[in-house]
Amino acid sequence: MSWLGDDELDDVEDFDESSIRMRPNPKANRPRTKRRPAHEDARIGRVLGVDRGRYSVLIDEDGPDERTVTAARARELRRTPIVTGDRARVVGDTSGADGTLARIVGLRDRTSLLRRSADDTDQVERVIVANADQMLVVVAAADPEPRARLVDRYLVAALDAGIRPLLAVTKTDLADPAEFLTHFDGLDLTVFTSARGQMPVDEIGAELVGHSTVFVGHSGVGKSTLVNALVPEARRATGHVNEVTGRGRHTSSSTVSLRYRAPEGSGWVIDTPGVRSFGLGHVDPANIFAAYTDLAQIAEHCPRGCTHLADAVDCALNEAVADGSLSETGRARLDSLQRLLTTFGG
Ligand code: GDP
Ligand code: ZN
Repeated sequence: MSWLGDDELDDVEDFDESSIRMRPNPKANRPRTKRRPAHEDARIGRVLGVDRGRYSVLIDEDGPDERTVTAARARELRRTPIVTGDRARVVGDTSGADGTLARIVGLRDRTSLLRRSADDTDQVERVIVANADQMLVVVAAADPEPRARLVDRYLVAALDAGIRPLLAVTKTDLADPAEFLTHFDGLDLTVFTSARGQMPVDEIGAELVGHSTVFVGHSGVGKSTLVNALVPEARRATGHVNEVTGRGRHTSSSTVSLRYRAPEGSGWVIDTPGVRSFGLGHVDPANIFAAYTDLAQIAEHCPRGCTHLADAVDCALNEAVADGSLSETGRARLDSLQRLLTTFGG
């Protein structure tokens, strides 16, 4: 599935405020101010990052005048979240010259949106990344100990957003990840593991070309080390895990888009700070099922409202296990699906 139409983006286009599309957020009001004149000279740029209310926006991407512009958000956008990966409509001084400030007046519709619900540790729903089509989950074979449930939560967030998940296992010099990896047998998950302490950087890079890949992982797993290997000029701060607390130093605090370049082409690495919690209250089970088309077909024979969990009565999937009609692979996939379905409260 390739739905990142970067190359199709016109650089200049008419701007119509009615096209600002926001995620349903009951608390945020849509702008009710009278319509302003269309910004006919708006340019489209990629939001690379945000720092204290100032957005870095890449304009004329891959063109002769590629430049990074600093922009503020227009007042009419109110509280519409603008995040890394958004395609923003920018007006004003878009020269990118020192000291200039442009203005973001709208956003293009997003092809995907990675977000997390409010949960015990954070009362606000947060939008993390827009328009990513892949998620690389980075996990360490040891130090910190890998936790399948945490990886499951990332997988659910990715599948819910229609984002293809990938898994990278670091620190295999410290432990063999084979047993941990059996948790993911049922899912068609591309897995990269380091060998003798070296990550297969070129192999991972090959998967990044032509995509926007958001990197997620618990702090201390070696994500910054991997990002720096892929994008040397990124110079993401790496930290040493504190041997007493097992906690990593606070390394990077904001989400940024970095360009991966290789002879074969380029792609985008979106590095996120270690996400501690991942509220999944918004997740729709149907989106998780979409990654299991074979099982979804069988589940068409389930009773209405079937949870498809191991204790579900008359569940066609459980019946297929019981009567032996589900293959071994199918059973492994059902195990992983059932685990993912119990990951969130929905
Ligand atoms: P981040 O918090 O996920 O960005 O992790 P860092 O990249 O800062 O790495 C945390 C620590 O793990 C640093 O001390 C790294 O040098 C170390 N580290 C990274 N990759 C590996 C690896 O493959 N093997 C071992 N033994 N240590 C690693
Ligand atoms: Zn069922």
